Amino acid sequence: MHHTESSNTQNAELPWQQHMRRAIRSAEQLESYLGLDAGTFGPSGNTTELFPLFVPLPFADRIEAGNLTDPLLLQVLPVEAESSSPDSYQTDPVSDLKHRIAPGVIHKYRGRALLITTGTCAVHCRYCFRREYPYGEEPRSMDTWKSAMEAIRDDNSLSEVILSGGDPLTLSDSRLAVLIELIEAIPHVDRLRIHTRLPIMIPSRVTAEFCKLIKGSRLSSVIVIHMNHVREWDADVEAAISCIKATGAPVLNQAVLLRGINDTANAQVELCESLINRGVLPYYLNQLDRVRGAAHFEVPIAEGKQIMTELRTRLPGYAVPRYVQDLGEDSKTLIV
Ligand SMILES: *Cc1c(COP(=O)(O)O)cnc(C)c1O
Ligand code: SF4
Repeated sequence: MHHTESSNTQNAELPWQQHMRRAIRSAEQLESYLGLDAGTFGPSGNTTELFPLFVPLPFADRIEAGNLTDPLLLQVLPVEAESSSPDSYQTDPVSDLKHRIAPGVIHKYRGRALLITTGTCAVHCRYCFRREYPYGEEPRSMDTWKSAMEAIRDDNSLSEVILSGGDPLTLSDSRLAVLIELIEAIPHVDRLRIHTRLPIMIPSRVTAEFCKLIKGSRLSSVIVIHMNHVREWDADVEAAISCIKATGAPVLNQAVLLRGINDTANAQVELCESLINRGVLPYYLNQLDRVRGAAHFEVPIAEGKQIMTELRTRLPGYAVPRYVQDLGEDSKTLIV
């Protein structure tokens, strides 16, 4: 298949589950999809054994073929540098596992419990801080959520449940409905937060059914998407975000500051403006977590601070994200 207008249209019309099945799973396949010569991307060492390449077609369609520094390509392309992270880059950089109160539940911050709903994502971001998370040890079927729900029920300081993963939107609408019902049944939980990259990777995942689910819940919902670069937008992503916004749920964005991808004030200004112009508020700009294999993405904090100073002078106050780092404190640590 080639990278053409007609493939774009076809891709937009496929049901989202098909996109999960048809996603590109090797550098060779990606080269061919983009119409590039075999070997163009160079060696990726043994990096894909631990964390395979995974790119859904609707996102691949936004990669500029032939541009080897394309900011979308760099997020998903395995490279040899992943094999040579210094020792300070670990497998669980944010100590998730220390805060696991039950299978699938991480309780790190006051009032908020995070559910590892699945290990599956609609894309493999090479810088992902959970790239080596032991997902195999977490609940897989709905009946195994019992102990997770008990742990949340037993702690009435918890007023918010965050669906994370992996990506919770890789679950079907019917499974999500069951999960949300279980959470709704816990009286002290008021809010549901969903952290997802699906609306950007496979926009057709934002089904009418999903939006109905959010709208019909007694929980008030907040949707946090993850976009790093303005070029991740296209008409289908816009439509997906509009659908979510029509439920009344606030939509926030988190980005990761990434070397060679969005590490300039201009790139960040463009991203933030594109978000607020579509009703999405920039929430966090995350300093890279030091996960093994991601060292080549790190931007020094001093540089991040300079970018933030410029953002504050160029953007409306509400469009400036909080620049944060996960240092295992009582909240994400604001970098100022
Ligand atoms: C980031 C995170 C949250 C949410 O933190 P906010 O600052 O409220 O966005 C909750 N739990 C865990 C484990 C997290 O890593
Ligand atoms: S979507 Fe999120 S959890 Fe999934 S690979 Fe990307 S950064 Fe990691």
